[in-house]
Amino acid sequence: MSMKGLYQPYRCTHYERKRKYYPFLKWVVLLLLFIFALPLYLLLTKGVPLPAPIVFSENLEIPVLMHTENKVVNMPLEEYCVGVLAGEMPVSFEPEALQAQAMAARTFTMRQYTAMGKHDGKAAVCTDYHCCQAWQSDEQLREKWGDNYEENLAKIRRAVADTEGMIVTYEGEPISAVYHSTCGDKTEAAGDYWQNDVPYLKSVDCGYDGDAPKLHTEAFFSYGDLAKRLGVGEEAVAAMAPVAYSDSGRVKEVAVGDEHMSGVDIREQLQLASTNFTIEKKEGGIAFQVQGYGHGVGLCQYGANGMAKAGFTGEEIIKRYYTGVDIQNIYGEKNN
Ligand SMILES: [Zn+2]
Ligand SMILES: [Zn+2]
Repeated sequence: MSMKGLYQPYRCTHYERKRKYYPFLKWVVLLLLFIFALPLYLLLTKGVPLPAPIVFSENLEIPVLMHTENKVVNMPLEEYCVGVLAGEMPVSFEPEALQAQAMAARTFTMRQYTAMGKHDGKAAVCTDYHCCQAWQSDEQLREKWGDNYEENLAKIRRAVADTEGMIVTYEGEPISAVYHSTCGDKTEAAGDYWQNDVPYLKSVDCGYDGDAPKLHTEAFFSYGDLAKRLGVGEEAVAAMAPVAYSDSGRVKEVAVGDEHMSGVDIREQLQLASTNFTIEKKEGGIAFQVQGYGHGVGLCQYGANGMAKAGFTGEEIIKRYYTGVDIQNIYGEKNN
């Protein structure tokens, strides 16, 4: 037997083996590409390919915790939004303002629903406005509206139906759609109020809330009362003065004696309408002159109503108060 004779069968087997495994190897390579290369590509080009819009069934139901009964009820999303809108914005507001609020309410709900991070994971949202957002039952609305029940409910339902499935997104994700009553001129940046910067919650000019009922409020405290509430001495409160302001003009820090307190703490402890206040010494105490009502971050409800009166659409209102956002439909683009 020559060397050639030995060599040839070996070569032949090797060749056959290679041929036999070739299709399998191709799939392994493709699989590896998908496992490693695709995520790497997405990582390196972050923000370029937007995540595919999440599409939900139009029959989507949301687990809602009824906080007074401590019971979880599954409710159609759109129906739940009707109860929220009725509880969160005066029904007398313009249709476009109600539409903007309906989108904000739906967005808040979908953000909670996709995270399920609250209420021990048993409910997406609850009916306690301190925790999530206000929600009013049909019974509560009948009592609140009396003879105007039918007419008011139709108006609220219309705003929800006109924005059916529409949520506000930033880079493809439902935003934290916070809102407040009256900003009093400019909204506040999230980073200045909560120390947590959010790209779409910047300070923006409002200029449309001039007829809000709580545009200006005054709160008076005697020196003794103020000292007690802030937990400092009377001499300290007599000399208290703001030392730092946010870009929107709200009080960020107040010097109280040797201490510095945040504007947010002062607001909370004195239950002031907002952190946009001035300190005025008066006979026997201090008067706080306060502008606006609420934290001031995100959508300004009275500003939204002012914009609606001036002819802006619900979408334009949303895009004014939330910087750089998109509006997407969770039931698919056919609804837009
Ligand atoms: Zn809650
Ligand atoms: Zn405003």
